Amino acid sequence: MRVGIPGGLLYYRYGRLWNSFLQALGAEVVESGETTRSILNSGASKAENESCLPVKVFYGHVLALKDRVDALFVPRLVSVKRRTHTCPKMLGLPDMARAAAGERVPVISPTIDFQSGLWHNYRAVYSLGRIFTPDPRRIVAAGVTAWREHRLYLERLTLGLDHQGALKGEAERLLCEGRDLRIGVIGHHYNVYDTFTTMSLLERLGSMGVDVMTADMVPEKLRERELRRLPKDIYWSYEQEVAGAILACSRYRLVDGIIFMISFPCGPDSIVRVLCEQENRRMGGVPMLTLVMDEHTGEGGFLTRIEAFVDMLWRRKRRESEELEAVAG
Ligand code: SF4
Repeated sequence: MRVGIPGGLLYYRYGRLWNSFLQALGAEVVESGETTRSILNSGASKAENESCLPVKVFYGHVLALKDRVDALFVPRLVSVKRRTHTCPKMLGLPDMARAAAGERVPVISPTIDFQSGLWHNYRAVYSLGRIFTPDPRRIVAAGVTAWREHRLYLERLTLGLDHQGALKGEAERLLCEGRDLRIGVIGHHYNVYDTFTTMSLLERLGSMGVDVMTADMVPEKLRERELRRLPKDIYWSYEQEVAGAILACSRYRLVDGIIFMISFPCGPDSIVRVLCEQENRRMGGVPMLTLVMDEHTGEGGFLTRIEAFVDMLWRRKRRESEELEAVAG
């Protein structure tokens, strides 16, 4: 069976896991590849107008795949951590994929929900495996291999490889190499690692002589500690990671400035943005720039804002070191 995995949204987090699992079960996996202008345009023209940019991009990936595969793989991730949920648009992805793909292409969509306990999720994965093989040992072995690959992929992200580098297991250079200026580029995986929608932001910062720290590179313990300081729990699974990373970067001065990458119109990110900006001001943290992207974002304006922000951080850094020298001298 040729199974298509659309290369948008949660693919940037679980693509390696899904691909490895399906291949180990004997499926021929077809990925839609990196986002392109035509994928974005087709998604934006067909998807619901109210959808956020990543959902439109995802729609474009489904359209790019639907005539090349026997089935699409779009899991429904309800919750990936206890007492949290994913965003409602993610919950509806399998239905959206069905609408985009039409009746000819079935959508395989196991439901993963950590509110229902581990057993429910094991059963969902096992039922998925049964679509491809009746052999339970093969399903378990596929699960173990895929999980190992997934952990390796995430570990590479924490070491400073970008998405492509982490998939391949090698990179020409790391995001963080000990340069003088370091910027936290924080946001959902798909808002940070999609080179087309971010206009290769990570690479551009590297060529400007700036180190990048992503949310993956912020130690989990620090993120969790920041979340515990908040007056209320954050309800969405991935927003917790984003908020924890921003606040930890700011409090512990892990970076000289933060770029918060948001897609328009994202409800959860808008709330987290206000929360983080308030907390950052309150603790006298580092400068923070919020970049909101949509399908109309122009490269000129985008780059001007980045360059101005980087310039400001360099000037600030020089002034601080001059003041330090004056005090020491
Ligand atoms: S979290 Fe925001 S950007 Fe992500 S799918 Fe939901 S609405 Fe879209």
